[in-house]
Amino acid sequence: DGDSYGVLPRPCHALVLLNPQSGSGRALDDFQAVVQPMLAEADIATTVFVTERAHHAHEKVRDEDLSQWDTLVVMSGDGLLFEVRGTWGWAELGCLGQEPSSESQSQAGNGKGEMAPSLEQSSHHPCPALGRGTVGSAPPRLAGAAGFPGYHGSFIPTGGERADGASRLEGGHEKPLCILPGGSGNALAASINYYAGYDHVAKKKLLTNCTFILCKGLYTQMDLVSLSTASGKRFFSFLGFGWGFISDVDIDSEKYRWLGSARFTLGTLQCLAKLRVYQGRLSYLPVAAEQGSSPAPRDAHAPVTNGHIPQPAGTAAPGSLPPDSLLAPLGQPVPAHWTVVPEEEFVLVYAIYQSHLGTNLLMAPAARLHDGCIHLFYMKAGISRVTLLKLFLAMSRGTHLDLNCPHLSYVPVRAFRLEPRVAAGVMTVDGEALACEPVQGQVHARLCHVLSG
Ligand code: ADP
Ligand code: MG
Repeated sequence: DGDSYGVLPRPCHALVLLNPQSGSGRALDDFQAVVQPMLAEADIATTVFVTERAHHAHEKVRDEDLSQWDTLVVMSGDGLLFEVRGTWGWAELGCLGQEPSSESQSQAGNGKGEMAPSLEQSSHHPCPALGRGTVGSAPPRLAGAAGFPGYHGSFIPTGGERADGASRLEGGHEKPLCILPGGSGNALAASINYYAGYDHVAKKKLLTNCTFILCKGLYTQMDLVSLSTASGKRFFSFLGFGWGFISDVDIDSEKYRWLGSARFTLGTLQCLAKLRVYQGRLSYLPVAAEQGSSPAPRDAHAPVTNGHIPQPAGTAAPGSLPPDSLLAPLGQPVPAHWTVVPEEEFVLVYAIYQSHLGTNLLMAPAARLHDGCIHLFYMKAGISRVTLLKLFLAMSRGTHLDLNCPHLSYVPVRAFRLEPRVAAGVMTVDGEALACEPVQGQVHARLCHVLSG
């Protein structure tokens, strides 16, 4: 698929959004010690925007004219990428002016007690000065470099006020994103490191690999999953949707962010102690259903997609969001060719679109950036704590499916629906909390670009 790759121009100018509080709080030091020297060698100039609070990055990306940068780099955990990425589509859905903070983000919090930004803070500045947010800046150069067709002014026009915003969905014309691991949850960075064929590493080595990928400048397309909730929210999610055990670990362990990725190990042990059952109905559209064969669960190593799914870019009008053509409205039954899981008691449901759930958790070894596929895992109630722990330990090597645990199912799907019986507890979108309610989603292939090596 030759047309799905691109390369950054040289010299290149990157806007770096950096959360100094992410993970164990070393992101800024690591950026200066590890990242900046490598980028300088590669002729990549940076403007660093250091966030001071939750939603700061979102406001920056929303209000700034991004045309002077060739790439948007996020140095934090997955949460900061979600913040700038996850706002996509609010205007289209009649949520104009409604910040994601008003629902999902305030539910989510960030473990640090930040409040949603006040109206005054979130008012639109045509071009806010980098001011306090900036630690270092190279002179911006003129946009529109020859040989780089993907040049459009706006990245996420949530307010709908940007005239040039309409171009964001024309496939192949969006500014590429780069994620540099600075947080405690760095699932996308770990996935990209894995796809690039590098050794399984963490911490500074993972950061070095991801910086090297940025230096090389090669980017490709990434699938996003459109998630809709019964209360009318819509998200474009890049990593995964969860309910039950994993989501609880994710949210409960945010207070241990300072531990880095070890926060998930501690959280897993704590959640194991109070293992719960979650009741609801899970349905899905298996990839195999389209190919005329029966669904074949639990073979993580089989190639999941030989064919491809229709590309949204060709079907959606420029600037409009791609329609969820595979989904029936929530409240109506799922289409007849969907599979409904007969059991309604679960320990967890997790729909992951990239390989890694965390730096050390290789959940979907078969996943690729644009495989057009949601890798759906669910665990039925009745599993013992010991088995659950074994599965999580095996997941560090991606061998959990080899254990052939009868409680764990895996199926590659295009779409799914989850209808929890009671609205208690949390769900997660890309690791961020969401109030529990019926949710469904479908994959949209190749909806954005990421640096991929
Ligand atoms: P981690 O992996 O450590 O959780 P994230 O990137 O997920 O790192 O960031 C967690 C949250 O911190 C995000 O929701 C983001 O909005 C918030 N945030 C960003 N900048 C700051 C800051 N300067 N102080 C506190 N919180 C911040
Ligand atoms: Mg996080």
